[in-house]
Amino acid sequence: MGYPMIEIDSHKIKENTKIMVKECHDRGIQVAGVTKIFAGNIKIVKALIEGGVDMLADSRIENLIRYKNFDIPKMLIRIPMKSQAKTIVKYSDMALVSEIETIYELNKYAKLENKIYKIILMIDVGDLREGIFYKNREEILNTVEKILELDNIELFGIGTNLCCYGGVIPTKENLLELVNIKKYLEDKFGINISVISGGNSENIDIMRNGEMPKEINQLRLGVALSMGIGLFDKPVEGLYTNTAKLYAEVVEIKFKPSVPIGIIGVDAFGRKPQFEDKGIMKRAICAIGKQDIFPEFLIPCNENIKILGASSDHLILDVTNVEKLRVGDAVEFYLTYGGFLAAMNSKYVKKKII
Ligand SMILES: *Cc1c(COP(=O)(O)O)cnc(C)c1O
Repeated sequence: MGYPMIEIDSHKIKENTKIMVKECHDRGIQVAGVTKIFAGNIKIVKALIEGGVDMLADSRIENLIRYKNFDIPKMLIRIPMKSQAKTIVKYSDMALVSEIETIYELNKYAKLENKIYKIILMIDVGDLREGIFYKNREEILNTVEKILELDNIELFGIGTNLCCYGGVIPTKENLLELVNIKKYLEDKFGINISVISGGNSENIDIMRNGEMPKEINQLRLGVALSMGIGLFDKPVEGLYTNTAKLYAEVVEIKFKPSVPIGIIGVDAFGRKPQFEDKGIMKRAICAIGKQDIFPEFLIPCNENIKILGASSDHLILDVTNVEKLRVGDAVEFYLTYGGFLAAMNSKYVKKKII
């Protein structure tokens, strides 16, 4: 197939999905399988469906369009662009929303499509990314009042997202804010709100230890299924981690000093690099670079290999302690979340799904 290449074990991902879906269903929680890390790759998305997710969720409508032949509900999880409302209504069944202007637009196209479009109104309980700030009750009330007037929009639920921008972790306290808002809205308007979409893979810990309020009945799980990790990027017990590996080909191996010779200006990215003098070292260059993936997202599978740095197209390694490495060999790396995402999105990185 050639290099650089990311190899993804879809069996492990399917197994992770089965385990999490069972655990969630046992607690009355539906699972939205978040696919944004797969860049729309149909083969991996199939593993999530076979693993039993209740719906597919992605931040890009372009990816949901690719899933149009899968007969399963689809949810857009980035606040919709007003300019995409028409496409969103056509290719998805629900979206996480926070702006009434956009909801009006969704309603307009839902009417044209003769469709009831579902929305989950996002409430920000402290992470400071999307949603109406939870303390702004007036804004929440006004928004819901306007939503309820719309013929082609169903207020399917309310939701929140944590651990993404501010790094605020989900707790009983901040999730209870959501539960309170749900009850408040139900009383105020005499309505029934079916879903509280209470978070992502970072919620698994408090779900397992029983601290997550029982009213939370939907989780949007991405990285737990794809990489077996959750809160603080720690492995989720019982799930497979290292579901993907990256292979990069060695194009040069030379013995050279560890500190550059000459007056040091700035590197290709405008930074003044620092070097530690370790004497002469054996250095290898792999044909992959920051155009594809940043070096801090890579973890060499062989512990004797150290990453020294990268430029746009070259990854430089210290291979002093590695004996059997030759030009043309492929070096293997595990990936962080950022690495998985970047590799899937680089058109130069080949994708092998096993
Ligand atoms: C990415 C994302 C998720 C999934 O998060 P994971 O940590 O990968 O489980 C859930 N909800 C929203 C809104 C997201 O953007």
